[in-house]
Amino acid sequence: MLTEPSNLDRDTWQTQLRQAVRNGRELLEILQLPDSVLGSGPEAASFPVFAPQPYLRRIQAGNPNDPLLLQILPKPDEDASQTGTADPLDEQAFQLAPGLLKKYQGRALLVVNGRCAIHCRYCFRRHFPYDTSPQATGAWDDSLSAIQNDPDIREVILSGGDPLTMTDASIGRLLDKLESIDRICRIRIHTRLPIVIPARITSELVDRLVHARPAVVVVIHCNHPNEIDADVERALGQLRRAGITLLNQSVLLAGINDDADCLTHLSERLFRCGVLPYYLHQLDPVRGAMHFQVPVEKGIRLVESLRARLPGYLVPRYVQEIPGRFSKTPLG
Ligand SMILES: *Cc1c(COP(=O)(O)O)cnc(C)c1O
Ligand code: SF4
Repeated sequence: MLTEPSNLDRDTWQTQLRQAVRNGRELLEILQLPDSVLGSGPEAASFPVFAPQPYLRRIQAGNPNDPLLLQILPKPDEDASQTGTADPLDEQAFQLAPGLLKKYQGRALLVVNGRCAIHCRYCFRRHFPYDTSPQATGAWDDSLSAIQNDPDIREVILSGGDPLTMTDASIGRLLDKLESIDRICRIRIHTRLPIVIPARITSELVDRLVHARPAVVVVIHCNHPNEIDADVERALGQLRRAGITLLNQSVLLAGINDDADCLTHLSERLFRCGVLPYYLHQLDPVRGAMHFQVPVEKGIRLVESLRARLPGYLVPRYVQEIPGRFSKTPLG
């Protein structure tokens, strides 16, 4: 018998983004959870729920401890943990132009927009002043001139928000401009979209990335093996077959992935999708997210146990970002 594809399978990525759940109550209803698990203080309110269907359907209904749910559900803990700051990485001090950060030699990070396809509760940019970055309106001219004028910059990292929330046409225009600067030899895209809405990996996008003059590196963000279903695997396969280097970064999160079995499975699952683990980040101490923090000693033990179980190339580098250093700081 032929089965009809579900509506979800026919929707474009833009539709899936538009139809994302943006409200805690609705999230509880869909996942059959009691009101008591939802926080409603000022932290929860300042960073509203945002989660599209393709991600939601990987969450087990009725389970308040589902590792994917915990990444998106504002919990009462958010307002209980008032340590941490609004800008833990001191990002405002490293701007070459509004929205262009240069902390390290050879590479600069362009905050292309403030839009994400999902709101992760532990996000270190949950208080970033996106509204005052000109990138909010797609005007990159000042940043592009700053890149043009700094002979040290050879790699540009597109970050956000999430650069893949831009349309293919906007991404194409930005790549055209970056490509015209001869010195730029790598373009890196930091994105969670291949995980959150795999339909975002359109053949037009893949085609444009393949034809970019600089090498393109896509760094995805995945914290738990349950985030990777068949659709995600297909999307990553498209990028991989096109010859794009694929890396993953994760954040070490209490109650979500702070366990050696989970992290081992994650590395193996990523590898089957053509992705190598890159960084495992110690949580940045951002206000409202401190209940996710794992003690560094525990993180070091976890990574030691990954080293004992996995080939070296499947062990992520456990790092912390300490403002003022020349690179991310290795922890163990
Ligand atoms: C993390 C980061 C980078 C990238 O660092 P890599 O170690 O090359 O991955 C670049 N610029 C800024 C501002 C960053 O925060
Ligand atoms: S996708 Fe990245 S930038 Fe956006 S909320 Fe999640 S962690 Fe933050």
